[in-house]
Amino acid sequence: MFIDSHCHLDFPELVDRLPEVLQKMQDNQVSQALCVSVTLPEFPKVLALAETHANLYASVGVHPDYEDTEEPTIDQLVELAAHPRIVAIGETGLDYYRLNGDLAWQRERFRVHLRASRAAKKPLIIHTRSASDDTLRIMQEEGADTASGGMGGVMHCFTETLQVAEAAIAMGFYISFSGIVTFKNAKALQEVARAVPLERILIETDSPYLAPVPMRGKTNEPGFVRHVAEYLADLKGVPLATLAAATTNNFRTLFQIH
Ligand SMILES: [Zn+2]
Ligand SMILES: [Zn+2]
Repeated sequence: MFIDSHCHLDFPELVDRLPEVLQKMQDNQVSQALCVSVTLPEFPKVLALAETHANLYASVGVHPDYEDTEEPTIDQLVELAAHPRIVAIGETGLDYYRLNGDLAWQRERFRVHLRASRAAKKPLIIHTRSASDDTLRIMQEEGADTASGGMGGVMHCFTETLQVAEAAIAMGFYISFSGIVTFKNAKALQEVARAVPLERILIETDSPYLAPVPMRGKTNEPGFVRHVAEYLADLKGVPLATLAAATTNNFRTLFQIH
């Protein structure tokens, strides 16, 4: 049994064929999926998925790549996160790869989410790309560390170095690997995945993007997370059942799903 810890089922590529996508989850023993919010105007659709399907959960947050969108306040995020089907704050973080120029607004938006996580007592889903130093520094400054009363969270679709992974783990965070880890040219990331302990790993699709090998090039969907799991089990030299049990357990512990 597998869990997709990060997908965008509300995106048109997936929501328009939802029954088929849900069936394929079942066919691949993917029991649950977390639908991740990227903007406030789209949030009701994400929440609706979780409200109408017992095996789907949702998060609330505004993605760092959406510049011209409604800016969330701490109070707003806390209020929306109080819903029992909302298990996390995010996705949030920093992305200096997709956008450039003065990104002070991105850092400010990230701080709002970090504060909302503490206030709402819900963990974070963090997106970081070409911005790991600032991401870790701001997490530290805002008390995201579980040792300073933070709720922890996950570094999603992880593509950074082992050093960054270790710094996040030291703050009580999990590291989530997507289909990228299965790509032929992802040698450095594969070494990182080999070194991250099983008790700290989550798996995800980030669908509809980044379909894993052998589905590369297709529209990604939660059912394909099984291929990420198979690849990681192989890479780490553990039985698939062990990898599945560990990542499922980690997901439930982090997002307090019992
Ligand atoms: Zn992301
Ligand atoms: Zn995402």
